[in-house]
Amino acid sequence: MRYVSTRGQAPVLTFEEAMLTGLARDGGLYVPETVPHMPARDIAALAGLSYEEAAFRIMRPFVGDAFTDAEFAAIIERAYAGFDHPARAPLAQLGPNHFLLELFHGPTLAFKDFAMQLIGQLFQASLERSGKRITIVGATSGDTGSAAIEAFRGLDNVDVFILFPEGRVSDVQRRQMTTPSEDNVHALALKGDFDDCQARVKDMFNDFAFRDRVGLSAVNSINWARVLAQVVYYFTSAVSLGAPHRPVRFTVPTGNFGDIFAGHIAQRMGLPIEKLVIATNQNDILHRALTGGAYETHGVTPSISPSMDIQVSSNFERALFEAYGRDGAAVAQQMDALKSQGGFTISQGALQGLRETYASGRASEDETRATIRALHATTGEVLCPHSAVGVKVAQDQPDSAAPMITLATAHAAKFPDAVEEATGLRPPLPARMADLFARSERMTGVENDLAALETLIEERRRA
Ligand SMILES: *Cc1c(COP(=O)(O)O)cnc(C)c1O
Repeated sequence: MRYVSTRGQAPVLTFEEAMLTGLARDGGLYVPETVPHMPARDIAALAGLSYEEAAFRIMRPFVGDAFTDAEFAAIIERAYAGFDHPARAPLAQLGPNHFLLELFHGPTLAFKDFAMQLIGQLFQASLERSGKRITIVGATSGDTGSAAIEAFRGLDNVDVFILFPEGRVSDVQRRQMTTPSEDNVHALALKGDFDDCQARVKDMFNDFAFRDRVGLSAVNSINWARVLAQVVYYFTSAVSLGAPHRPVRFTVPTGNFGDIFAGHIAQRMGLPIEKLVIATNQNDILHRALTGGAYETHGVTPSISPSMDIQVSSNFERALFEAYGRDGAAVAQQMDALKSQGGFTISQGALQGLRETYASGRASEDETRATIRALHATTGEVLCPHSAVGVKVAQDQPDSAAPMITLATAHAAKFPDAVEEATGLRPPLPARMADLFARSERMTGVENDLAALETLIEERRRA
């Protein structure tokens, strides 16, 4: 299996190379050269398997010869051992044809753990073998950073630097990043918003001298291995509701488009997904782009679902690459326009292609709170604000015989203020992290300045 860049100008890589490098050297994102097909009988045979066994069968063709079967199976076992639900990604029923896929049973209570725990194990296996060292630099709107720090803390061959927008992440998210005491992890509070954090990380990747000097690696959702890990639960949930014999729909609370793009890969592999619904909060660039055809940044307005407060949605580039018939030059042109003019217009043909796969909707802050309140009253399910955006947008979709599966992307206890405001109840942290607020914090405040950031990273990383 080989991986190509969405901008068509970077070297073609193996799975292991694409995983370790993250962003392609032409600024693009790696995607598989071809998507392997999973025949209907193989999809049907996933029924009744453990999450780990299903994960092995679904991901194996993408990994190529990077790991033996036994190595890869062991990596998957270790990745999900820290989840506190035996099903890993259980389904709850919200209504007659509406299900909630609970993706918050991992160590940091958000779906990011599915990808990050796997990536931690993959990196460790690969770096142990090669003896190489790497420096991971990531931007986070809250959940990626905590999941990355949890996955890489204490690893010998890895230093981790996480940039988060100062004052824009929840207390639980911040504490999950600032309380680990291992000296290979560094939480950096940047004066700016998430898009600033993400832009500085991209700048570092485009500074090739720096990139090579520190062995820069990305575990943001642009990393292909993360997308791959997220393909698995689309299969397991759909199969438990009758796929491949019955089509399903998914609604996905979306920011950087990584999670929902994984759904598209599942669809391309052969899973019968009727529609993938993009759910956004008031930062609705994706919803506007899909309905009007113009991808235009308007600046970020902070919301109660901060992990979706994004205007530059990195992985959307992968969807555009598919929609433009894998024309890397066309994608590069649009990304240049985004950088220089703050937006671009999607061609009619590409827009039509996108609309066949995706639908979209947005939920306001009031609608989000009302959904948390209503779901709690009618089903007892306590939603985090991101999941509530998903449920609201799913409820607004036209009727279909295909069951709707809404992805619950985080645990309510990660966003207790918003949940308490909506329901009057403060969701407690699970027992295993009940002392989070008693632990001491460690972080560094940084300016939104590339040179200063690079200097800090060079000084702090272990040589
Ligand atoms: C990251 C995140 C999202 C958005 O996921 P993308 O893959 O960036 O679209 C939604 N909800 C929560 C809780 C998240 O942490």
